[in-house]
Amino acid sequence: MILKDYAVVLKTFDYSESSIIAVFLTRKHGKIRVLAKGVKRKKSGVSASFMTGNICEIVFYSNVGRDLQILKEIDCRSSFSDVGKDLKRLSIFQAALELVDRSVIEQETDEGIFNLIETFFALLPLVDDPWAAFFTFETKLLKLIGFFPSILKCDKCGKTLAGEGFGINSSSWCARCEKCVTEGMILISVSASSILIDMENRPMNDIVDLRLDRKDRREIGRFLHEIFRAHVEGYKLPSSLGLLKGVN
Ligand SMILES: [Zn+2]
Repeated sequence: MILKDYAVVLKTFDYSESSIIAVFLTRKHGKIRVLAKGVKRKKSGVSASFMTGNICEIVFYSNVGRDLQILKEIDCRSSFSDVGKDLKRLSIFQAALELVDRSVIEQETDEGIFNLIETFFALLPLVDDPWAAFFTFETKLLKLIGFFPSILKCDKCGKTLAGEGFGINSSSWCARCEKCVTEGMILISVSASSILIDMENRPMNDIVDLRLDRKDRREIGRFLHEIFRAHVEGYKLPSSLGLLKGVN
């Protein structure tokens, strides 16, 4: 069967002297692995289309029973190279790709994740605070894969947590109000809590002006990191963020 779809390049690796394997997140067919024959030959001229993070239109031969599909055509529609000189944004861009690759299971289809990554990549060059955008992206990704914990009510007394700080247990992921919090919970302050609620509920486009101070950034970053660590097999702090840490 010949299929056509939009796809973001998550990663590529060499297959032979002239061919590569590309891992794509497609809009309608989920995450797929595709053999691209002959693209490393100079004459082919398409190798630039396979830069990670490019959003392309692809045509491929699909065989449901096989875990490797065959690429027929690729046409790059958008590329992140415009902000290539901004190391912070570039590292965050790569981190988002790594996270999606680790979080999405092959051939599981969810158009929402493709749309999220497409929106995030369009916004990232424009936002004031790329960390705020990245944490919003992480929050929405966790919601889509079903792992964002409920932070609406205290698990013990039922108190509404909107406008309150809270604690959360890092194995049951139950939230507690400040009165019912117990030792060892991850603590989220009032300001970080209200930002998290915004990140969870407001559309991605609304966060263009959102800025985080150092304290909120640390609290929210750690909270999201612990959730990914608990739920996503093979998750580690994205290596591109490690690079950024070294540079700063
Ligand atoms: Zn309570």
